[in-house]
Amino acid sequence: MAIILFKNPLLATMNPAREVWRGDLLVRGDRIVEINQPGQSNFSGKIDRTIDAGRWLILPGFIQTHIHLCQTLFRNQAEDLPLLDWLRRRIWPFEAAHDAASMRLAARLGIAELLAGGTTTILDMGSVRHYDVVLEELEKWGLRAAGGKCMIDTGAGVPPGLLEKTAGSLQESQQLYKTWHGAANGRLRYAFAPRFSLSCTERLLREVGAMARELGCMIHTHAAEAAEEEALLQEKKYRSIDFFREMGIAGEHCCFAHGVQVNAREIAGLAQDRTAITHCPSSNAKLASGMAPILKMRQAGVRLGIGADGAACNNRLDIFSEMRLAGLLQKLQHGAIALSAQAIVEMATIDGARCLNWDDEIGSLEIGKKADLIAIDLDTPHAYPQNRENIYAQIVYAAKSSDVRLTMVDGRICYERGEIGNMDINATLAAAEIEWKKLLHRAQITG
Ligand SMILES: [Zn+2]
Repeated sequence: MAIILFKNPLLATMNPAREVWRGDLLVRGDRIVEINQPGQSNFSGKIDRTIDAGRWLILPGFIQTHIHLCQTLFRNQAEDLPLLDWLRRRIWPFEAAHDAASMRLAARLGIAELLAGGTTTILDMGSVRHYDVVLEELEKWGLRAAGGKCMIDTGAGVPPGLLEKTAGSLQESQQLYKTWHGAANGRLRYAFAPRFSLSCTERLLREVGAMARELGCMIHTHAAEAAEEEALLQEKKYRSIDFFREMGIAGEHCCFAHGVQVNAREIAGLAQDRTAITHCPSSNAKLASGMAPILKMRQAGVRLGIGADGAACNNRLDIFSEMRLAGLLQKLQHGAIALSAQAIVEMATIDGARCLNWDDEIGSLEIGKKADLIAIDLDTPHAYPQNRENIYAQIVYAAKSSDVRLTMVDGRICYERGEIGNMDINATLAAAEIEWKKLLHRAQITG
């Protein structure tokens, strides 16, 4: 069990008192075991590695509560389309054309980008097939994740390769849950992932709702993203938040991506039943879906996380871009003091952990919690000088993902000095290029 000492960093703990101070942090195995004033450690055992962290700000690792690792190969390949066209003309045909090899490279690229950019935990929605491959890659490279295969059993424009039989979809999800939930020292958790209201039958959703409650498992889906989605659902006399609740998909174990098209009544309902919302500002802007009312949701007490969504609609998986845009959009809409930088960092750390019901283990630097942390070098021309009184503004508005120097998950250093473990980055990029070309050939996109 390795013992690692981070010596003398500035610590933005995100603990309940939101303490920011200079100290030493000791990791033993997968846990934070000491946080002390510099030189005040009581630890008497042998330290395997001491890292001089005096230049660094150490934070709990960032948590992105909506990601599609399966879409990383589609980066820069699905431009200038609104949501439903983007899905039907590009993303669904691409996803249908995935094989195990292309899925592996999509996941690997995404994981590399996330770890190098300071993200330590994701809530991931897969494609319909090959989710076991995504989980294998997560297990291998060390990112913490909840996630699941996407479930689709109906819907206009869904290609045959993605359309499942209801029973088969449930069965496969259950099998993945059995194999993977709690795997990798508890670092991987399964989440049921029905795609969205227009691509799932009521039977599928009701059974997912019941099964998740029975198993104590999360549900992750998209809801209230675009106006066209709400308009189509209106034919069934529903709005999407109400629809999911009617299907038994609401509550503390549920996390919905987007929540752009929510009204005051729905916001009150989300706060009351504790359903979490993931804010995806870049994706919502790029697909022209709109601006989620996150200030109103926060004021109402809705649990909020933040995420990049997929590389096919962003085109980054960069938490720094998401935090910055989230802050800027709220300022434009509600005024300069609308949403503090601290509130945004909370969404990306401790509040994200709460959305995943994982805040007992991650989301803050506290003794006994998992050693999921990142080191940022703030002594850079673009981030200097520091303002210790508001370190959060420096993180949200000045820092960049390239300032991340080290990423630790579960006590394991997954990224350091530009290296993702023993991953050969150049070989990964070359293989990704080959797999993308093969996938594009299989997909035969026509317009
Ligand atoms: Zn999404």
